[in-house]
Amino acid sequence: MSNTTSRFPRKPVLFCDFDGTITLNDNIIAVMKHFNPPGWETIVTDILNESKTIQQGVGEMFALLPTSMREEVTAYILNNAGIRAGFPELLEWCKANNVPFFVTSGGIDFFIYPLLEPFGIPADHIYCNGSDFSGDTIEITWPHACDDACDHGGCGMCKTAVIRRFPTDEYYRILIGDSVTDFAGAKIVDLVFSRSHLTEKCQQLGLPHIPFDTFHDIIHHLGQGGLKS
Ligand SMILES: [Mg+2]
Ligand SMILES: [Zn+2]
Repeated sequence: MSNTTSRFPRKPVLFCDFDGTITLNDNIIAVMKHFNPPGWETIVTDILNESKTIQQGVGEMFALLPTSMREEVTAYILNNAGIRAGFPELLEWCKANNVPFFVTSGGIDFFIYPLLEPFGIPADHIYCNGSDFSGDTIEITWPHACDDACDHGGCGMCKTAVIRRFPTDEYYRILIGDSVTDFAGAKIVDLVFSRSHLTEKCQQLGLPHIPFDTFHDIIHHLGQGGLKS
């Protein structure tokens, strides 16, 4: 282990959200705002105030869009999603320090894989939801749904199920995220790098967190051993 990572009490592992974290904005919200199918705003409100599960809400939102719009929706996301500053540098830092990096996303495969393509992240380090365009409307599929140990439920892509594969006695678990898809995971990690709604949630719950703006901020804190800086 390098000098940098030996500043951590155990081997660090990173779990990084995609929408609104790796990308500057939430791509699902951006698509809904742009194409504006009737009813999407109520669904988002219900997800944010946790009266509807993420799985239910995300499924319902995409079901508002006809599959005939596949090209249009995909092109809109690929042309409009900006990558947050410092992301390639964070991946380099992880490689140099032998720190495993996982994308744990509540987003959808048809835009995540193309957007991450330039960064060379192994496919088995990317967890997200799937999609089925064979029907009349877009159907979201859930290859990484909650396991029995998830007490949150309805995550869609269950971040806690992925995180639990890295036992706490061996790993110092670090989550990077911004919003509702990160709430359950934030409760079971050692440290959260947070933005936006996730910062508020961490404050409310008293979870150890460091607010960040760019991935350069995260590299800085990781270099100093997380919260100790
Ligand atoms: Mg997000
Ligand atoms: Zn879950």
